[in-house]
Amino acid sequence: SIVSFGSINADLAAYCRALPRPGETVHAERYKIGLGGKGANQAACAARLAGSLGIGVSMVGRVGNDPFGALVRDRLAAFGASLDHVRVDADNPTGIALIGIESSGENSITVVGAANMAIDSTDVDQASPLLSAARVLLLQLETPVAASLEAARLARAGGGIVILDPAPAPEHGLPDALWQLADLLTPNETEAEALVGVRPTDPASASACADRMQERGLTRCIVKLGARGVYFRDRDGDGFVPPFAVKAVDSVAAGDCFNAGLAVALAQGKVLGEAARFAAACGALATMRAGAAEAAPSLDEVLALLG
Ligand code: ADP
Repeated sequence: SIVSFGSINADLAAYCRALPRPGETVHAERYKIGLGGKGANQAACAARLAGSLGIGVSMVGRVGNDPFGALVRDRLAAFGASLDHVRVDADNPTGIALIGIESSGENSITVVGAANMAIDSTDVDQASPLLSAARVLLLQLETPVAASLEAARLARAGGGIVILDPAPAPEHGLPDALWQLADLLTPNETEAEALVGVRPTDPASASACADRMQERGLTRCIVKLGARGVYFRDRDGDGFVPPFAVKAVDSVAAGDCFNAGLAVALAQGKVLGEAARFAAACGALATMRAGAAEAAPSLDEVLALLG
């Protein structure tokens, strides 16, 4: 099975003409409440893709005992993800993202981690059989890293593949143990620069980033270059997936859908290059629709784009 261990948020998005400046109040035309949080987005997208393949997808995380918690649980369940290991935290509210989007497309986002930030070893313990049996574990950096490390240890010990999305970009790098435990790191341009100090903009600079990552102990990595494609490297060599031509309207959660696609392809036993191409199609399709988890493509859409 595929397990996503990480954040779950309610995204509250207000669409306004211009974002408020400090001290200002603006009136927005409409708002939307959606499922968000990188952990939940990756679980939702993987569940949508894997539903017809007979691969189970589980979420491990925390929500509060409040209406947003009920809402995000319902949304996640509707994608087909198992919620058996999503705990209801009596002491902390559900995580939220307060998102302002102006008509130019510019946005400003305030994230309150709340219950997500209370995740600790007890969350790992209650999910330990699931983590040990996982074929692929999806991790991100929106929840405390100590718990993610423990989850990674269990998955690795059980023979699972650990995919770490180093997002949001870590200000102080990654702990050494995480470099060693992650099978596969998937930074975008900003995250790669934060991790190794080189900004990847094309296959050559992405390859230079991969050199630095390998020096840290990593054997496999993918560098996401947004609309410029995907670079990948493993022991067998490296390669580049040119971008799929799509009409992008909203890049939110493109990276999450990419990682979900990567997990599904690797769970099916595809080699890294093939998995990167499948994932790139998922990311590209996600840019064609607004929203976070709601933008996740179906397997049929991905297969059609792959041709
Ligand atoms: P993040 O969301 O982490 O910033 P990216 O923006 O790099 O990640 O998007 C993830 C992946 O989605 C890309 O590597 C690419 O495969 C695909 N993608 C994103 N934007 C586009 C685009 N405009 N056209 C085609 N593919 C895209």
